[in-house]
Amino acid sequence: MARLHDAKVECPMTLFIAKLIWSLGCVAYYIIRYPHQCRARKTAVADRRDHIRERTLMLISYGGLFVIPLIYVLTEQPKFAGYTFHPAQAWLGTLVLIAAMALLYRTHRDLGRAWSITLEIRDQHTLITCGIYKRLRHPMYAAFWLWAISQALLLPNWIAGLSGLVGFGTLFFARVGHEERMMLETFGDEYRAYMARTHRLIPGIY
Ligand code: SAH
Repeated sequence: MARLHDAKVECPMTLFIAKLIWSLGCVAYYIIRYPHQCRARKTAVADRRDHIRERTLMLISYGGLFVIPLIYVLTEQPKFAGYTFHPAQAWLGTLVLIAAMALLYRTHRDLGRAWSITLEIRDQHTLITCGIYKRLRHPMYAAFWLWAISQALLLPNWIAGLSGLVGFGTLFFARVGHEERMMLETFGDEYRAYMARTHRLIPGIY
C-alpha cells in the first residue's frame, strides 16, 4: 500500500520551465501596463522632452529586455554564449521576477495619471510623494532593474541573460538625470525638497 508520507513532492526546475517563467514575466508586464497605457493616450501632455532621444533609448531597452531573450528562448541562439543551467539560480530568478512585477504594479498604481512611457509632464501634473514614492524617486526603474536581474538569473546565456541589464542600464543612466532636471524645472523647490529626503533606487543607499 502506498504510504503518503513516503511520497516525495518534487517541483522540478528545468531550462524549459525557466524560459516559460521568463515569458510569463513579459505577459505580466503587458497586463500591468495595458490599462495605464490606454489612460495615458487620453491624458493631455503639457511638456515633452528629448522625444527622439527617449524613443531611441526605449528601443535599446526593449531590445535587451525583450527581443534578444525572446530569440534565445525560441532558438537557443547565440549558442556559443550558453552555459550550464543551474536550477537554484533559476529559482532565485523566479523570486526576483515576482518581486519585480509586484513593484511594477505598485508603482503604476501610485503614479496614476502622472505616468508616461517617456519624459512628459501631463496637464495638471501633480508631484507624487506618497506610497512607494515616499522614500524613492524612481521605484519603477528599480522594478525594471529587478526584472533585468531576473532575466540574467533565468536564462543561462551570457548574451541573452545580460542583455536586459545592458539595455535597461543604458536607458536608466541616460534618462534619470534628464528626468530629474525636467521635474526640477516643473516643480522647483517642491522637487528639490523631495530629492533631499529620498533616494533614487535603494532606500538609504542610492
Ligand atoms: N522615474 C519614476 C517614474 C517613471 S515614469 C520611477 O521610476 O518610478 C516617467 C514619468 O513619470 C516622467 O515623465 C515624469 O513626468 C513622471 N514622474 C516621475 N516622478 C514623478 C513623481 N514623483 N511624481 C509625479 N510624476 C513623476
